[in-house]
Amino acid sequence: MKFISEFRDSVLIQKTADEIRRLTSGTGRTFRIMEVCGGHTHAIYRFGLKDVLPKEIEMIHGPGCPVCVLPEARIDAGLELVRHEGVIMTMFGDMMRVPGKYGTPLDMKAKGADIRMVYSPMDALTIAQKNPDKHVVFFAIGFETTAPATALSLIMAKKQHLTNFSIFCNHIIIAPPLRALLDFPDLRLDGFIGPGHVSTIIGCKPYEFISAEYGKPVVVSGFEPLDLMQSIMMCVRQLIEGRCEVENQYGRAVLWDGNSRALAALEEVFDERNSFEWRGLGFIPHSGWKIRDEYAEFDAEKRFSVIETSVEINSEAACGDVLRGLKKPHDCPLFGTVCTPENPVGALMVSSEGACSAYHQYGQRLHEIEIPSNFKLQEETVV
Ligand code: SF4
Repeated sequence: MKFISEFRDSVLIQKTADEIRRLTSGTGRTFRIMEVCGGHTHAIYRFGLKDVLPKEIEMIHGPGCPVCVLPEARIDAGLELVRHEGVIMTMFGDMMRVPGKYGTPLDMKAKGADIRMVYSPMDALTIAQKNPDKHVVFFAIGFETTAPATALSLIMAKKQHLTNFSIFCNHIIIAPPLRALLDFPDLRLDGFIGPGHVSTIIGCKPYEFISAEYGKPVVVSGFEPLDLMQSIMMCVRQLIEGRCEVENQYGRAVLWDGNSRALAALEEVFDERNSFEWRGLGFIPHSGWKIRDEYAEFDAEKRFSVIETSVEINSEAACGDVLRGLKKPHDCPLFGTVCTPENPVGALMVSSEGACSAYHQYGQRLHEIEIPSNFKLQEETVV
């Protein structure tokens, strides 16, 4: 298939749903499958896939949204940097609306702080080159997907002997939280839809422990509706046949061994932290990157002596349970009332990959609606 419309063909999607229904009917069990990536959660709701899946399939959103899992203390510590004389803070757009103790970065910008949205760390590097009398900090977040670009910006900064550029590093590693989730006693999972974007960098090998040690299947998936339906079908088929393997549905973008050049850039610049805090999941060993000593001059944490302070959280917010897949977003008492995309309480409502944002945007009341038996998947407008 070559065109995006082919991956959104409702006839093929319905046929795949029929096959999943054939596989699951009569089994008398529920298949609890976690879609790790927030982009998958959005696709499932945006394209209405939940409505064509049989009732035996329960999709559980995972922790694969980097903005959502960043704890408030790190957000506040990063935004503290902009209070230093002459600092320009740069960040991705979805960070601009994440609330911290000073309000959101957009609020701070409105009050005069020099905070700028960028599309990549290379943009931040360019700002540093154009403003030699200022110090530019890039608020780096993301899994192995975005970390190579940050690494490349530091490699370039070092080559250019830039002295006014640094990174506030919050890059995280995808495999350790999956192990942490599998070790949670309250959470029963049967299989995983593996994240597509991060796997373009790391490949499929890092998920092998899930099948080898925990006996669960993993299917690395693309983001179009047919990708997801096929991946769910592959995962269910493994479970029905008693197999547990790592399979790659997203072969058009993901190589089994990943992207060797991107991995080399990560290796050059980053080292694993002993542990890193995840919102809702606590401290997880070896789950974050730090900047290697060879690049210490570009490490904002060292340059500015970053201090993290404890943060008061709205006691009714269920962000932690939602992130662990123990609750659905609409189980949170603040969902859609106190916490909305216009006025978010938690980061899960802010980020374009957040589960609460996806439920609010595409499926706010689906849990209350009876789906008619003659429901047909709507043709999605190709954009
Ligand atoms: S609705 Fe808001 S407060 Fe509740 S879990 Fe979602 S982001 Fe957190």
